Amino acid sequence: MTGSLVVVGTGPGKADLMTPATTAALAKATDLVGYGPYLDRVPVVPDQCRHASDNRVELERAKHALLLAAQGRQVVVVSGGDPGVFAMASAVFEAVESGDPAWRGLDIRVEPGVTAMLAAAAEVGAPLGGDFCAISLSDNLKAWATIERRLKAATEADFVIALYNPASKARLDQLGTAFDLLRTVKSADTPVLFVRAAGTAEATVITTTLGAADPARADMRTLVLVGASTTRLIAREGLPPWVYTPRSERGVRS
Ligand code: SAH
Repeated sequence: MTGSLVVVGTGPGKADLMTPATTAALAKATDLVGYGPYLDRVPVVPDQCRHASDNRVELERAKHALLLAAQGRQVVVVSGGDPGVFAMASAVFEAVESGDPAWRGLDIRVEPGVTAMLAAAAEVGAPLGGDFCAISLSDNLKAWATIERRLKAATEADFVIALYNPASKARLDQLGTAFDLLRTVKSADTPVLFVRAAGTAEATVITTTLGAADPARADMRTLVLVGASTTRLIAREGLPPWVYTPRSERGVRS
C-alpha cells in the first residue's frame, strides 16, 4: 500500500469548526502525529496509532511522520487552528527539503483550517475588515529584533495586527514591550482586544485601548488584536460593543 501524509488543523477548539475534509482525513488515518493536547481533540478511531509529542520538537515530529508515510502508513499530522499558520505544515516541508530525496515523491497534502485570528475576529464583529497582518511574538525560532522590526513596519503601515503567541511561561514581558513600541506610533485610544479561547464555549473577550492594555491579561490561549486607525466600536446597551474595521478607508458609508 502507498503511504500518504496529510497535514491538518483542528480549528480553534469547537468540534464544528473543524472542516469536514479534516474530519475525513482523521477518520482514514492509521497514524496521528502531533502535540498531545491537539491529539486529545481528535475523536478516537480503533486501531489508530497516536504519536503524541512535546510542542517544541516540530522538526523531529515532521521527520517521524515522513518516515511513517514512506513505510506505507496513512499519516495525519495534527496542528491546532490552521496547519500553515505558525504550525506544523512548514516543519513538514522543511523536513522534506532537507531529508531523504525519496520523500519528495510522497503523497503529501495540506488541509486548511480555521485559524485563531479568524475565530477571534468573529467573536467581536469584523475587526479584520480592512488590511491586516499576523505576527507571532514567539522568539523561539526568530530574533526578538526581527519581531520589533515587523511590529514597527506594521504599525507605520496602519495594518490591523493580530498577535499570536503573546505570552508564555518563558517570556514574561514581551507583550508589554510590544505595546510600548506600538504606542510610539499609534494613538492611545486604538482598540485592543484580548480574545481567549476564541471559537470555543469558554471564549472570553476583553475590549480595551492601547493606552490601557495590560499585557498580563494575555496567556498562551489568547490572541491579541490591535486595531488600525479606522477600527471602531459600536456601543450596545448591556452588551459588549461590536468592533469592526470599515472596508473603506474614507470611513463609514451612509
Ligand atoms: N496554528 C494555530 C496557531 C498556533 S500558534 C492557528 O492557526 O490558530 C499558538 C497561538 O495561537 C496561541 O498562543 C494563541 O495566540 C493562538 N490561539 C490558538 N488557538 C486559539 C484560540 N482558540 N483562541 C485564541 N487564540 C488562540
